[in-house]
Amino acid sequence: MLDKVLIANRGEIALRIVRACQELGIKTVAAHSTVDANLKHVLLADETVCIGPPASAQSYLNMAALIAAAEVTDSVAIHPGYGFLSENADFAEQVQESGFIFIGPDPKTMRLMGDKVSAIRAMRESGVPCVPGSDGLLTEDNEDNARIARNVGYPIIIKASAGGGGRGMRVVHSEASLFSAIAVTKGEALSAFGDDRIYLEKFLEHPRHIEFQVLADNHGNAIHLGERDCSMQRRHQKIVEESPAPGISAEVRSRMGDRCAEACIEIGYRGAGTFEFLYQDGEFFFIEMNTRLQVEHPVTEMVTGRDIVKAQLLIASGEPLQWRQQDITWSGHAIECRINAEDPKTFMPSPGTVSLWHAPGGPGIRVDSHMYSGYVVPPHYDSLIGKLIAHGENRESAIARMTTALNEVVVEGIHTNIPLHQEIFQHAAFKRGGTDISYLERRLGLK
Ligand code: ADP
Repeated sequence: MLDKVLIANRGEIALRIVRACQELGIKTVAAHSTVDANLKHVLLADETVCIGPPASAQSYLNMAALIAAAEVTDSVAIHPGYGFLSENADFAEQVQESGFIFIGPDPKTMRLMGDKVSAIRAMRESGVPCVPGSDGLLTEDNEDNARIARNVGYPIIIKASAGGGGRGMRVVHSEASLFSAIAVTKGEALSAFGDDRIYLEKFLEHPRHIEFQVLADNHGNAIHLGERDCSMQRRHQKIVEESPAPGISAEVRSRMGDRCAEACIEIGYRGAGTFEFLYQDGEFFFIEMNTRLQVEHPVTEMVTGRDIVKAQLLIASGEPLQWRQQDITWSGHAIECRINAEDPKTFMPSPGTVSLWHAPGGPGIRVDSHMYSGYVVPPHYDSLIGKLIAHGENRESAIARMTTALNEVVVEGIHTNIPLHQEIFQHAAFKRGGTDISYLERRLGLK
């Protein structure tokens, strides 16, 4: 078992990791920026190290500072959480070369799956269904590119191979704008990711976002924990997630989940990961893999009763997976609301002092949050201040419990998106389930 883990992250996920470590008897080191000394997990960790000023580039993205913090505290492993350096293969490599365990996949696998074109190719080879597209990079030959687009059929979407965070993508409806769109996307990709390689694929007009959670160990075992529906999004940012996905049968879950687990074995995957798909007209299309823990992992934990973070720690310790596929069963329905410190109408960030915080409770309610009364939300980071998760015996019960929890939670001093969640939970279309990824923006009048 790992002796001591350094947490290279902040906020609710750092707290989640501290809790999992404590359950397993692993000592924890909270690496934090100067503005984060009062974070809840910093107060709960066994040791703390200040790694730099508030700006992420100088603290949570500062590889040298994080590795030095692991050295001075005699940590054996680094958990990157999500965001920040969690999908940075160079960081994973430096961590390993410095003699520490990176809690995540091998850097080589991260590179393979971090590049969208190589990820899609690897998935095609493993028999995972992908969006029809250029099957590789676009070249300088525009006639050839036009031919590829015509064969795929408009509308198409041009994407940066190195893209992420919903950036570096452009939809094209006809050949008239193809060449200019290629040039603009290339330029944007170069400035945003330092890499101008692009590809194209069919643009799906009304897909849902459905993803599969996997776990794989160092001993050739891989399993899936079923799917999540994360279609409720604004600007490609997920807001509400649930498991199971409405309308997905046990047979489809098992077929797609097995395919993902097999793909893990083929690419030599290790740790927790997620295969993201667009789902339209009964078909799945792989778009990318996230080689890390995800924000929405709790909904899967609630329906499977399995602790994904503890599993990550055990896998990193070199243990074989504790569960075989047939051990995994699903019970009831879970929904998560991401609570952001932002104006519910304008979506402008709303940092400041949380003058009063009361968490909701009751059967089936889980709160993953680092909030407490008097905590000051700094302006330097992501606006996520916590997650409410409701589990019930079925979807209606989970919705009813979440509605009660949303009415019960008290956050004073800052604005939050709780009113937006309250409204979403009243929508007839949401109650029916299975809305597509543009639903929320259409509903908000943004589309
Ligand atoms: P990123 O890595 O930037 O998150 P993704 O490839 O995961 O990029 O795509 C982000 C989002 O963009 C998807 O969740 C979906 O909303 C939209 N999108 C991506 N590819 C397509 C496509 N082929 N058709 C329709 N929408 C797409």
